[in-house]
Formats: sequence, C-alpha cells, structure tokens
Amino acid sequence: MRSVLVTGGAGYVGSHACKALASAGWTPIVYDDFSTGHRDLVRWGPCEEGDIADTARLDAALARHRPDAVMHFAAASLVGESVRDPGATYRRNVAGTLTLLEAVRKAGVGTVVFSSSCATYGRPDRVPITEDSPQRPINPYGASKAMAERLMADFGAAYGMRGAALRYFNAAGADPDGEAGEDHEPETHLIPRALMAAAGLLSRLDVFGDDWATADGTCIRDYVHVSDLARWHVAALDRLAEGTPFLALNLGTGRGRSVREVVAAVERVTGRTVPLAIGPRRDGDPPVLVADPGRAKDILGATPRFADLETMVETAWRWLRRRRS
Ligand code: UDP
Repeated sequence: MRSVLVTGGAGYVGSHACKALASAGWTPIVYDDFSTGHRDLVRWGPCEEGDIADTARLDAALARHRPDAVMHFAAASLVGESVRDPGATYRRNVAGTLTLLEAVRKAGVGTVVFSSSCATYGRPDRVPITEDSPQRPINPYGASKAMAERLMADFGAAYGMRGAALRYFNAAGADPDGEAGEDHEPETHLIPRALMAAAGLLSRLDVFGDDWATADGTCIRDYVHVSDLARWHVAALDRLAEGTPFLALNLGTGRGRSVREVVAAVERVTGRTVPLAIGPRRDGDPPVLVADPGRAKDILGATPRFADLETMVETAWRWLRRRRS
C-alpha cells in the first residue's frame, strides 16, 4: 500500500489530511513532535514522534516506513508570535523545512506537498488574489512560508523533487464525522473564539477594528472548510504522481466573509448571543483576503463540498462542544 509521511499530522489541517489520505487508499504516517499536536488525533495510521529539525529521527522514520511522498504541515503558525519572536518562526518554518527536504532527498522520496499560506502575498494590490500576484509578505510568518516555497522550488530545479505549495486562505470547520477538529492553545482564530464566546468559555469576542474600508467596517476573509482542504492535498499528490513538477495553488472558496458575518453565523448556529467588544485593528492584518480559486479548480478539481459558512461553523460547534464537555 502506498504511504505518505505527514509532518504535523497530529495538528488541525494535518489530521484531516490523514483522514483524507486514508479514505483515498493511502497509509498516512504521522511525524509530529506533539508540541501543539494531539495524540488522540492520530487515528489513521502509524505514528513517529519527532521534530522536523531532528535529522537522525527523520532519517530513521523515513528508513523504517519508506514513504512514497511527504506532506509537510509541521510549522509555527501564529502571525503575532512570528512578529514577537521571528527567530523561532524562521527556525521552525525555514530551517526546519530545509532539514526535512534534505532528509527527504537523501531518502530518495521525490514528492512533497507543502502547507503554504495566503500570508505569502502580504497586502495584495488586487482581490481576488491569483497565484501570479506578487508575494510580498508583511510579517515573519508569511515570509517564512514564502522562503520555504523557494526552498522547494530550488530542490525541484536541482534534484528533480516534485512539489506542491498549497496557499490556504482561512481554514475553518471540523471533520463532519466528528473525528478531528481545531484545538489550539491558545486559540487565536476567529470562528473558534466566537464559538467559545457563545458558549461562555470567553467573556467576549474582541473584534479587531470596525473602521476598515469594507461594507460593514470589519475585515474580510475567505473561509474554506478543512475537509475540503484535506481532499485537495490528496488531489495535489495525484497531479504530482502524474508528472507535474511543481504547483503553487491558492486554496479558498473565492467568497469573502466579514467578521460580522461570521459572528451572525455563529449566533444562528448556536442560538446564542456572542458578546462583542470592538477593539483596535490588529497589527499586520490586511483588510481583505479572498482567493481566486480558478487555477486550483482547473488543476485539482478543487470545488468545495462545504462552501457555506454555516456548515463550517456548525461542524466547528459540534467539535468544540464534544471537546470541551
Ligand atoms: N479576528 C477578530 N477577533 C479575534 C480573532 C480574529 O476580529 O479574536 C479577525 C481578524 O482580524 C481577521 C479575521 O478575524 O480579520 C480572521 O482572523 P484569524 O486569526 O482567524 O485568521 P487570519 O486571517 O489572521 O489568518
């Protein structure tokens, strides 16, 4: 049976990718240091505990399982933290990715699917954002993902390693079967925080600015269901296996939602009020990020199954209630 080493496979998007891989007939091998991942999210294949910066452990895991490909999710993923402590983010996301790519090349694995981000575009000139938009990241997190993409492209040119850089917009929701979901500590993302405020686990939701030049004054993002993202990772693997050398694709729905629209959806789904406090803008927040999903649709068949915000919120709500009960 074909197998994939999944770094960060015990995390939010990584765990959903493992489920999608297993449903498509692959064996996902989780490689995770459990600094932010969860052991109970390792459900679809074997597990190797290790850090991507640890060459010896990586070599051993690659030798033991001899995977056909690698999916790389392990990363420092918080923008604010990357601004406060850039060294930690660059070490993990750039040096860590380099260590991983070296090990992968040595092991003779020829295919890597990488979890990149729309944060590589920075503040775009035009929305929706196409893949040809210039990558001008405005924080160390976005810069680290752009650098890792560059590493992949250079490894492709030099060693023939095939790669896909999948630039996600805002991953949201949870596995509809309730087998995986989002569980960050601390939780910084809008949908889980709004749900936590609705559930009384937070006293209120702070809205980061309502004076932006958008219809209701709040920031607009392109929320995309995590199970759709996961499926499209498997589709990227298939395209690479067919011979495509390198892919850089936006993964979003093409539909923008404001913070206020998200709050309204959370109130409809939960039947509860979300107590709000309007606060200042958050440093490094672009006002509008929406994908042009056309290329991913053409190349991966990336049409969302769970395009509506209510489904994203509803699956996240079920997950949160079960997780916190
Ligand atoms: N946001 C907010 N309050 C929060 C968390 C987020 O108003 O407690 C806003 C944030 O400014 C952004 C959107 O919600 O416009 C999505 O933020 P999130 O942190 O979920 O994802 P990001 O877009 O930063 O990757």
